[in-house]
Amino acid sequence: MKLSVTDRKYSTELSAANDSERVNIAGWVHEKRDLGGLFFLIIRDREGYVQVTFHKRTVGKELFEQGRKIPRESVVSIKGIIRAEPKAPNGYELIPDHLDVLSVASQILPLDTTGKVGAELDTRLDARFMDVRTERTKHIFMIRSRMLKTVRNFLIDRGFVEINTPKIVSAATEGGTALFPITYFEREAFLNQSPQLYKQMLIASGLDAVFEIAPIFRAEEHDTTKHLNEATSIDVEVAFVTMEDVMQLLESLVAHVYAEIASYPGLKSVALDFEVPPTPFRRITYDQAIELLAAEGTELEWGEDFSTAHEHILGKAIGEHYFIIDWPCTIKPFYAQPIDGTDLCDAFDLMHPRLELSSGSQRVHSYELLKERIESKGLAPESFEFYLNAFRFGMPPHAGWGLGVERLLMTVLGLENVREAVLFPRDRRRLVP
Ligand code: ATP
Ligand code: MG
Repeated sequence: MKLSVTDRKYSTELSAANDSERVNIAGWVHEKRDLGGLFFLIIRDREGYVQVTFHKRTVGKELFEQGRKIPRESVVSIKGIIRAEPKAPNGYELIPDHLDVLSVASQILPLDTTGKVGAELDTRLDARFMDVRTERTKHIFMIRSRMLKTVRNFLIDRGFVEINTPKIVSAATEGGTALFPITYFEREAFLNQSPQLYKQMLIASGLDAVFEIAPIFRAEEHDTTKHLNEATSIDVEVAFVTMEDVMQLLESLVAHVYAEIASYPGLKSVALDFEVPPTPFRRITYDQAIELLAAEGTELEWGEDFSTAHEHILGKAIGEHYFIIDWPCTIKPFYAQPIDGTDLCDAFDLMHPRLELSSGSQRVHSYELLKERIESKGLAPESFEFYLNAFRFGMPPHAGWGLGVERLLMTVLGLENVREAVLFPRDRRRLVP
């Protein structure tokens, strides 16, 4: 990796082959090793470490004393000559001739960046900037970036158009979840729980296949390891397709994300047992899930949603990714397409053995039926006029899904807590930093 904005070299851009070259490095003082007439500063940059060797005899008294005084985690820029050194990281060391201390770090550090002393998640989140300096956390967010790039490329390569829809919305919502109210000039408004209604309206625009990667806001007072109050959703909506088409798109996207992350060099310092899941994923119906629960000794009344405990039992019994299809309409949103002559809807959840990753469905595209479905949920069609209008002037059949970025990253890497997958989590207690 090379930063193209400066002549500064990354630790990994250099090697024993650069012996005798004069270079410029910069980074944080990761460790100091003092051996009397000789000491090492281990300088950390994003890509790795450089050993800077200060011999009193060779660097001169002034530079020697300057280097020795620098507190750990201070930011420095160092110029010097590369020397091949088999015992140093990457097989070379830097013999300094110039040192600039760009920022002196306070002495009592909130975290140990070497990872030798572990810290509670709360402590890490309070000092997140510092937590990202540790090897494991850095890799989590490098992988998150790679994951988002992979998703974008995957969808754009398949003809999708990236969209951005408003996060500030008026009172009308799809129901089912609590919203955060905000003051919008003289009116009340809300932070959007999902781009659902907007992405569907864009199916009536003729863009055909749209996606958005953006925050969703849920005002539920969860205190779990899988819920955030601000999450990031990958939302997809496609015209002229069936639910099965978008399920295949979803499973191949998930497998592709795993395959891309498999080649990430730092993966081992985050996830030890990493495997790309085989596709296609199993499909079971809602009724079969209830039977499976019964076989495991747990009753679930027909028409009830699965609790976290149910999800765990199913996940343990199935042991791999799976889809649950054919849901009772009563527990799916109004925009899910009913299956004729049943009380089921053409909806699905994509499950990881640990938790739900995604929900999607065939959508109702008939104006009349959609109005009925809204009413059947006890909602007022008038407050959905902006949305319903898009169904009155030519709306193709369509299907889509929403996939949580943090849940995907959490399950791909085997992270214990969804908060680990987001830089600055928002939860019931946490609003800072
Ligand atoms: P759950 O039942 O697990 O709370 P949900 O069914 O309420 O999830 P959906 O409304 O179906 O969630 O949202 C689609 C996807 O967005 C979810 O499958 C999940 O990946 C992600 N998601 C939704 N709510 C949250 C949240 N509070 N925190 C993190 N991710 C979320
Ligand atoms: Mg869901």
